[in-house]
Amino acid sequence: MSYITSKPGERFALWKLCERCTDMSPKKVIKANLGVCPKCQLHVQLTSDERIEFFMDPGTWHPLNELITPQNPLDFFDSIPFEARIEDHQFLSGLDDAVQTGIGFINGMPVALGIMDFNFLGGSMGSVVGEKITRLIEHATREGLCLVIFCASGGARMQEGSLSLMQMAKISGALYVFQNVAKLLYIAICTSPTTGGVTASFAMLGDVIFAEPEATIAFAGRRVVSETLNEEFPANFQTSEYSFEYGQLDAVVSRLDLKEAICDMIYFFNQTIYKTPYISDLLDDLIYPYQSFDPFSPEADLYGVENFPFIISATDYKGNCVFDEDMYDLDLNEPVYSNNKKLQ
Ligand SMILES: [Zn+2]
Repeated sequence: MSYITSKPGERFALWKLCERCTDMSPKKVIKANLGVCPKCQLHVQLTSDERIEFFMDPGTWHPLNELITPQNPLDFFDSIPFEARIEDHQFLSGLDDAVQTGIGFINGMPVALGIMDFNFLGGSMGSVVGEKITRLIEHATREGLCLVIFCASGGARMQEGSLSLMQMAKISGALYVFQNVAKLLYIAICTSPTTGGVTASFAMLGDVIFAEPEATIAFAGRRVVSETLNEEFPANFQTSEYSFEYGQLDAVVSRLDLKEAICDMIYFFNQTIYKTPYISDLLDDLIYPYQSFDPFSPEADLYGVENFPFIISATDYKGNCVFDEDMYDLDLNEPVYSNNKKLQ
């Protein structure tokens, strides 16, 4: 199955041929159906702009860190210089790199959103993708926002060598603070294809992991795995359904229900009593020393996860704190305990 959704000549066509069932549908109908074939339910690959249009409330999208652009730190040269390859892809896709990050609303709920775009160099994760996603996570941590990332990638960007591999650790580190220190919700959504370094890092670190039907989700390619293990695999190997069967995913969700599923998760999270930072001032004081902290330093005890001072709060669907002492029959003057350990 080709991942190229439209050839240059097709750009102005009014009808589109389904690659699987060969059904001809008006482009308007496919668009209204969020890029899902009305006949056979094939989920056509979407661009990041289409995902913003389909999933965000109109007029609420605010991009972040748009000025970060890729370089060629290793002077990589294949058939053409890497700079020229980047320029070609920037011209063809209208993007600076393979991810768009920003904030906006989904059904009135504020979220920090990252959307990878497979049309830019196969959605490969280079320094820019890693940096933009890390900054998005840090922004969401500061603002107390839920995080949603649509993953679509061929893996780490080989033209940037080990610099691209380092992004896996960098993003995972930022996610650790987001999930385990700020105690916020991260929803990862695997779209086709989610492979390589992205699968090996943030795509599989979601508190909730969704995938679109029949999406390719893998680390190494099928042939490599098959030859290494000298084993044959079923036809649906490395699909979202296969991964779900083996417990790698929480749910396989049709794109038509995806927005509602995301909203349900965020609403559920916001309605529950969670340990979330009370106000962003506290985050500035508390998260930031933590981010640059050395686990072996004397300050480690002070800012370590177990001793981290939290305030128990609940937020409404817009993320506003609605904590009410009487509501949970708690006295704020009493020390707060977590895992039988007294918190500050
Ligand atoms: Zn079809």
